Amino acid sequence: MSEQRVAVVTGGSRGIGRAIAVGLAGAGHAVAVNYASRRDAADEVVAAITASGGSAFAVGADVSDPDQVDRLFGEVTEALGAPTILVNNAGITRDNLLLRMSVEDFDDVISTNLKSAFLCTKAALRPMLKARWGRIVSIASAAGVMGNAGQSNYAASKAGLIGFSKSVAKEVGGRSITANVVAPGFITTDMTDVLDDAVKEAALSSIVLGRFGEASEIAAAVAFLASEPAGYITGQVIGVDGGIAL
Ligand code: NDP
Repeated sequence: MSEQRVAVVTGGSRGIGRAIAVGLAGAGHAVAVNYASRRDAADEVVAAITASGGSAFAVGADVSDPDQVDRLFGEVTEALGAPTILVNNAGITRDNLLLRMSVEDFDDVISTNLKSAFLCTKAALRPMLKARWGRIVSIASAAGVMGNAGQSNYAASKAGLIGFSKSVAKEVGGRSITANVVAPGFITTDMTDVLDDAVKEAALSSIVLGRFGEASEIAAAVAFLASEPAGYITGQVIGVDGGIAL
């Protein structure tokens, strides 16, 4: 097993973030499970990890808020140690056609999905630079690569994560810190459960592998990018999307 690290997973309480937290704990890392409001869900993830012999800690914080992000990293460092793995996973959708999209829905999505990555990466870089080792993985979306009608705010935030990660990769590569992006396709979680059947059918028809993805399939890619053997991969966008973006 590779060296034990401290990992922060934003939005680790549910869906893809939950699977990532469990996966990193399974790889032997101590995991901070961040949540926005669902403390119960985060506690359940921590209980599942500790029941399998892992180490985890639930930490509430709105990752779009600079003060809360500072507090989050302070609490994680105190509870588990200095983090050197960061997964920028927290995300929301506020879908609408552009002409009907409010300024608030645009701002909320950019703040939660993109500004959060800026704030968390900045906070995580200090311990990573000190350790001369780090892994940053941001969860974008096939929508950020291809665009998607009704998701101009969301696609912009996810495309933003790609440019952000490539820039960070160039800034800190000399210290053995990598920054990569995983771009999921349609994954079965609370976020996609709320979509109309017609939307799901349309998505399914363009997925080459003919099925929706599982959160564990995203977690497997993240665990690899966070691992020691992935140390020569940086600035990349790995589509885990069943071929939807082909
Ligand atoms: P879910 O809606 O199932 O879970 C979202 C998670 O993000 C929850 O843990 C939630 O916390 C947390 N969260 C939301 N806002 C904040 C915030 N301001 N601060 C901290 N945490 C927050 O989403 P998914 O698991 O489906 O998605 C996870 C990521 O994957 C997102 O970035 C999403 O855009 C991306 N993605 C998802 C796809 C899919 O098909 N599901 C496809 C492509 C990308 P709480 O439990 O407290 O509400």
